[in-house]
Amino acid sequence: MTKVVLLLCWLSWGVQALAAGAQQKLESKAVTVLCYHTFLGKTSIFTDFSLAEFSEQIKQLVGAGYRFVSLAQVENGEISGQKNLLVMFDDGHHTAATAFNQVMAPQGLPAVFALFPAGIASPHYMNWEQVKALAEVPGNAIVVHGYHHEKLFDRFARSNPQQFMDEFEKAKNILEKKLNQTFHTFVYPYGVISASGKEQLKKSGYLYAYGLAQRPLLIPLSTNPDPLALPRYMLTRPLVKQVLAKLLRVP
Ligand SMILES: [Zn+2]
Repeated sequence: MTKVVLLLCWLSWGVQALAAGAQQKLESKAVTVLCYHTFLGKTSIFTDFSLAEFSEQIKQLVGAGYRFVSLAQVENGEISGQKNLLVMFDDGHHTAATAFNQVMAPQGLPAVFALFPAGIASPHYMNWEQVKALAEVPGNAIVVHGYHHEKLFDRFARSNPQQFMDEFEKAKNILEKKLNQTFHTFVYPYGVISASGKEQLKKSGYLYAYGLAQRPLLIPLSTNPDPLALPRYMLTRPLVKQVLAKLLRVP
């Protein structure tokens, strides 16, 4: 009799453990990272959208029940479910500030700005006051996007080690000094990832770096195959319909 009770207990524990495993799988957490560039409304530029197009895309995603999460929530693992978006604006073009201020800020949606110091305050780019104002919006974050926005190939590290290092270290130092905060997240210009780049990121004190790949970002970040090669979807005119359709299909 005791044996039967023990067997039943064991079976019941086994079933519960299996159910918990299945539940855990169902509750796996992910974020889709979207990468935008400019908002000039020029159909000839493949990474450009008009403000009206951007507004419509955000409206559709909000309507579909997506949560717009902050970089801090992503890095702290404060995410639930799969229907999450992290919006990044690359390069610091002045129209990205307009898009954020006109479309996202009024809805209280956070964003990330990937910036390279050599671009800031140059023609068509945000000035430091704009960058500071965007950085101060609760939920927003700035991440480092190189110093000159160079392609960070291994051959660049070999041919000009100082300039290569500047892309990581000088960029970080300037942004930290100007914005009075510390940075540990990098975005590879053009999505170029190299062994030398990863090595330099570690030396310069970075913890995370984003490239371009069409797959979701797993939460916690440590569960991704490589924290220095995290994925983002770059939104382009040829791709936008496909990416949005995929996102809008998620139940
Ligand atoms: Zn860029």
